[in-house]
Amino acid sequence: MDGGLQCLRPVSQSPDDLLDALSGVLRDFGRYAFDLSRQDARRTEALFDQWAQHVVSGIEPPGGVERTGTRRNYPGLRRAFVQHRRAEQSEMLQVQEAMREVVWAFVGGLNRLVTDDAADDARVTASLSQLAFKLGSTSPLEIRGVALEAVAQVQAVFEARRARQQTQLQSLGEKLERLGSQLETARKESTTDALTQLYNRRAFDEQLVRTAELATLRAGGAALLLIDLDHFKQLNDAYGHPGGDAVLAAVAKACVRVFKGKGDFVARYGGEELAVLIRDVDATTMAAQAEKLRAAIAALEVPHDGAVLRVTASVGCAWWRLGESPEAWLARADGALYAAKGAGRNRVTVA
Ligand code: GH3
Ligand code: MG
Ligand code: MG
Repeated sequence: MDGGLQCLRPVSQSPDDLLDALSGVLRDFGRYAFDLSRQDARRTEALFDQWAQHVVSGIEPPGGVERTGTRRNYPGLRRAFVQHRRAEQSEMLQVQEAMREVVWAFVGGLNRLVTDDAADDARVTASLSQLAFKLGSTSPLEIRGVALEAVAQVQAVFEARRARQQTQLQSLGEKLERLGSQLETARKESTTDALTQLYNRRAFDEQLVRTAELATLRAGGAALLLIDLDHFKQLNDAYGHPGGDAVLAAVAKACVRVFKGKGDFVARYGGEELAVLIRDVDATTMAAQAEKLRAAIAALEVPHDGAVLRVTASVGCAWWRLGESPEAWLARADGALYAAKGAGRNRVTVA
């Protein structure tokens, strides 16, 4: 009752109230920022947090002191805000443009396929009707030659069609990939794991399907690595869960150091299991990279509570096979990991 009456009273607003409100708006603006190609969301959050503090308590504004007549650098704040908003706007326009491009490429490709296929069909029909015509008037001895000629013609038509489709798929694949990397940055926040800062299982499941789809469209090749820490339970038992956590975080960092390429995707697959997807890679490089990771993990020394913790990992790798489903690909990598454990751990096995 009392609270309701208070709402009706006219509210007098002091300059402090306004500064608090402005500071709150700046903080919220930063908190709900999204990754841009030139500035990730965390940096934006830190930047606007600093502006918020500058507004309420006059601490040094971002970019150093550029004081105007008043104590606060409001022109600087406005410039920073506008600059950021512009960057967001331009990025969104780029994503929209890329999306439009993909849709048009798809429509155009489909259209060409239908038109070209119709032309091919006409050529095949002509060639077959000529065969039928010749069959009627040619001696049995010549039939073989005529039939072979027709088969060669039909084959040439289909080969040309396959080459055309391959080129179209390749170009669509490249456009999709560009769009993919732009959309990627936007969804990073909800898909990371708190302890390791890696992508979580949900993000991995999505990426696995996408990687297989892209590998179908492009001839680049793709690899999947499953990494499971060895005897991790013993490490937890000896040094406690926080010790285990410190090791997990260090392993995640080591993994990101090895797989830092644009087409590399590192995720926490489960408790003490990581997964890596690599795009545009051949089978030899995959095995070499997996070995590099194994060695990097084995060389880690993690200081914790006065002790130095060490761990090893077993790695199962599988190079994607044409036509293979994501589930089958995952199962092969899992089988390889199981084999690495069985063969004595701290090793890489290729499926
Ligand atoms: P191996 O894989 O070599 O066969 O042995 P392991 O002891 O690592 O295998 P297992 O899968 O039986 O045990 C995994 C352990 O990892 C059990 C669980 O307590 C621990 N673990 C899972 N997630 C976490 C985590 O987030 N933090 C810590 N500290 N431990 C975790
Ligand atoms: Mg395990
Ligand atoms: Mg394990």
